[in-house]
Amino acid sequence: MLIPSIRDYDFSQKRVLVRVDFNLPLDSKGEILDSTRLIRSLPTLDRILEDEGSRILLISHLGRPKGIDPKYSLEGVARRLEEIWKRRVSFCSSCIGTEAHQRSLDLPAKGVLLMENLRFHEDETKNESGFAKELARLGDVFVDDAFGNAHRKHASNVGITKFFQDNLAGYLLEEEMKAIGHALKNSHAKKLALVGGAKVSDKILLLQRLLDRVDTLVLGGGMVYTFSYATGGRVGSSLLERESVGLVRDLLSHAQKTGKEIILPVDIVTAREIRENTDTFLRPLYDIPDGEYGLDIGEKSLSRFADHIRQARAVIWNGPMGMFEISPFSRGTRYMAELIKEITRRGRYSLVGGGDLIAAIGSILGKAGATHISTGGGAMLAFIEGKPMYGVEALRS
Ligand code: AMP
Repeated sequence: MLIPSIRDYDFSQKRVLVRVDFNLPLDSKGEILDSTRLIRSLPTLDRILEDEGSRILLISHLGRPKGIDPKYSLEGVARRLEEIWKRRVSFCSSCIGTEAHQRSLDLPAKGVLLMENLRFHEDETKNESGFAKELARLGDVFVDDAFGNAHRKHASNVGITKFFQDNLAGYLLEEEMKAIGHALKNSHAKKLALVGGAKVSDKILLLQRLLDRVDTLVLGGGMVYTFSYATGGRVGSSLLERESVGLVRDLLSHAQKTGKEIILPVDIVTAREIRENTDTFLRPLYDIPDGEYGLDIGEKSLSRFADHIRQARAVIWNGPMGMFEISPFSRGTRYMAELIKEITRRGRYSLVGGGDLIAAIGSILGKAGATHISTGGGAMLAFIEGKPMYGVEALRS
């Protein structure tokens, strides 16, 4: 069953309840680090406000607060949205209750009201029906545009849909599902996935699944040391997950049997301490001395990876190549971002995703640096892994 779109819907005189993903990355002081998710929600919000007398009620989560915690208030996000959108955005200090309901009724035509963090209530993640019903009182029609939450079964994206006659998909949700689905289809001649990040155990399902869908799997980040160890390499003090060695061996032999390539880095930037301004060394992947941490991919690896990426027709990228948060180990990730930009300019298909990664390389990629930049980290992984997208299913039923 097709999910109804907001494209042709008549929002006139309606209070439109929109579940957005305003879960923006924050620094340790609670300052917003990246506003990509706000910017990407604007086409949906603008579309709704085109119709005479429509009003928007926004609901979202931010972070993982345990109960009410001012550090995770969405009030700062309301101010940031105002700056970006150049439009007044009011804020309500709760998402349920009498005041919240009254303010939804009092909102004037073309008004926009952002409600406080859904996760201040534990009922949100429990998909509690009473909480969902309370939220539903805020609107006459429901729009889900929170792709980043679509793999979760929460009150604000699943439970809530029972209480509306019309449940619609916003443009961002539609676009994300379409773009990731497209990248996984067999229509591209030569497909490559570039996967980095910290742990093999987090990504083993993703790697298995991708190996069936692409021709070449290129690996960077913290997981490569478990691959090296599994084939007899010395990894020094690098990240090693002994419990994943068996799975890694299975993956390597599956690749061999099916004629797929798994490309690992050949050289590694190491250090004895994980900090800024530390001395770094260049070592072969398979021979990292004791006491040294492997923290980024080296020069030879960059050109090896570049050769493969330039030959591919479509590239899916998830996860950084090294510990990019610390500058001596950010080069591999930044280099890959430049490369993705280059192949995209030459008309190749590129899909880039992962919350942290986008915050790190968003400024390098800019707007046109990838064919599709996904706003959902976990959601993109879940979709590729073939897990259920509960939020999307709920809109269908
Ligand atoms: P993920 O969320 O799995 O994509 O992992 C992102 C994290 O992986 C980032 O915080 C990186 O610092 C970390 N990471 C990347 N490469 C390494 C490495 N060689 N050793 C340890 N952590 C790494």
